Formats: sequence, structure tokens, C-alpha cells
Amino acid sequence: MGLESIYTQLIMEHNRSSHNRRALKNPDISERGYNPNCGDDIVLEVEIEDNIIKDAAYSGVGCAISQASTSMMIDLVKGKSIDEALKLVDIFLSMIKKDITAEEELEVLEDSIIFQNISNMPARVKCAVLAWHSLREGLKHV
Ligand SMILES: [Zn+2]
Repeated sequence: MGLESIYTQLIMEHNRSSHNRRALKNPDISERGYNPNCGDDIVLEVEIEDNIIKDAAYSGVGCAISQASTSMMIDLVKGKSIDEALKLVDIFLSMIKKDITAEEELEVLEDSIIFQNISNMPARVKCAVLAWHSLREGLKHV
């Protein structure tokens, strides 16, 4: 997938991202993600119940890539167990590093697969991985 189509999809995602942009009433995790290179500064909130990610949301500011990546990640991990979510984070980060390239292994990432070639734009990699690192950090402290 070329970079132009990534951007096209990001723009399409832009409308979608608003449903995850809110504050949770009683988050179990509140993890800040800050990327000084770009100015992305988000707070990821997660509600856990019986080891399942019951709800998740984010607030803050950032570029289109960081916002879209955050929103797609939230859609992906909601309803998943903590272990499943951590596994998805690993797969996403391995995809970015090109450690995993097989389409059938990446399918589980759903929409987030559009970031597969973000490493062609090295300056934007930190934007794309920001929320995923934040989720992993946050889940460590549950
Ligand atoms: Zn950014």
C-alpha cells in the first residue's frame, strides 16, 4: 500500500476518530504519551473489568497519523483481554519494524495494517507507535 493511500485512509478515519475522543468516568489506566519530535501529546484511558478491556478513550492533541493510529488501536483492543491486547501491540510494533511482513499474520490488526509502510517516513514512525507504547506501558501497571 502506497503512502498516498495511507493518507487517503487517514482522512477517512478522521471522522471516525471522534467517537474515541472523550474522557472515561473511572479509568483504571491513564497513560500519557508524548512525542516531542512532532508535538503529539495524548492521554490514553482504559477501563478494565475481569481482565478485559471494557472501554478505552483518549484525549489530547496530535497530528493526523497519531490521532488515527490511537483511534484505530482503541477500536481494535476494546473487548479484548489484556493478554490479547498486549499480543496485538507486539504484532503492530513488529510490523512497523518489518519483523513481521506476512499479510496473514498482520490481518489481526484490522485497519491498523495501513501503517505497515510508515517506516518509509521515518519522522512519522513515533507518531504511529505512540498510543501502542502507551497502552503497553499502562497495561504493565494494572
Ligand atoms: Zn505526530
